[in-house]
Amino acid sequence: MRTAIEDLDWIYTRWTDLRATMHRGTPKPWREPTLTLEQRGRLDELARIEKIERGAFTLGESPAPIHLDALDRAIDLTTTMGKLARRVATDLGHHAILIRAATHRYDDPLLLIRYVSANFGNVTPEIGEDIQEEASRLRAGLSHHFAELGAGQRLKADCPWCDQPTLYVRIIGAEDNGQPIVRCESGTCEPDTAGCGTWHRNLPAWPFHEWDWLAKQIEAADERKSESSKAG
Ligand SMILES: [Zn+2]
Repeated sequence: MRTAIEDLDWIYTRWTDLRATMHRGTPKPWREPTLTLEQRGRLDELARIEKIERGAFTLGESPAPIHLDALDRAIDLTTTMGKLARRVATDLGHHAILIRAATHRYDDPLLLIRYVSANFGNVTPEIGEDIQEEASRLRAGLSHHFAELGAGQRLKADCPWCDQPTLYVRIIGAEDNGQPIVRCESGTCEPDTAGCGTWHRNLPAWPFHEWDWLAKQIEAADERKSESSKAG
C-alpha cells in the first residue's frame, strides 16, 4: 500500500504539470478544444467566486483562457491542502508558520504539501488518517486528469524525426499511477539520444515533462517543411 508521504510527494511533483495544463497559451503538441459559450459563462462565474473567496490565481486579470478541468483540480488541491495544513498547525501549535505560508503562497500549494508531509508523523491518528485519505483522493484525481488529457489520441502533427503522422498519447504504468507519454508508432522512427531519451516497447517516447520541448521540435520541423516547400 502506498503511504500518504508517497502520495504527497507525487502530488508535489505534478503540480507544475497541472498548472501547465491550465493555460491555453502554454505550447502543447495537441490541439486545444475551443471554449463553448456555456463554458465561458462558467469560467466567468468561477473567476468571480475565486476573486471573492480568495483572490487565488488572479483569474480576473488573466488574459489567457483557462482549462476548466485543470482549474477545478487546482482549486480542489489548494483548498484541501490548506484545510489539512491548518488542522496540522492547530494540532501542533504552529499557527505563525501556517499563516505566513497561506498568505504568501495560497495559490500555490507546494509549501502546504511539504508542511503537511513533514509533520505527518507527529499528528494525531485521526488527522493522519484524514491526510492519508485526502492525499490518495487527490492523487487519483490528478492521475485521471492527466490520463484524460488525450489518451489514445493521435497528434495532428508529423513526427519531427520520421516525418510520419504517428505520434500518439498513451498512458503507461499501473492503472492508478499511469504516466502520460507521447509515443511515435511508425515503427521506423529512430531519433538520436538528443532527440529522445525514453523508449517504450521499442518505440521512442516522450514523457509529460518533455511535452513543451517536443511541441517546439514539432513546430520547428513544420516551419522547415513549409520553407522548403516554398523554395521548391
Ligand atoms: Zn517518428
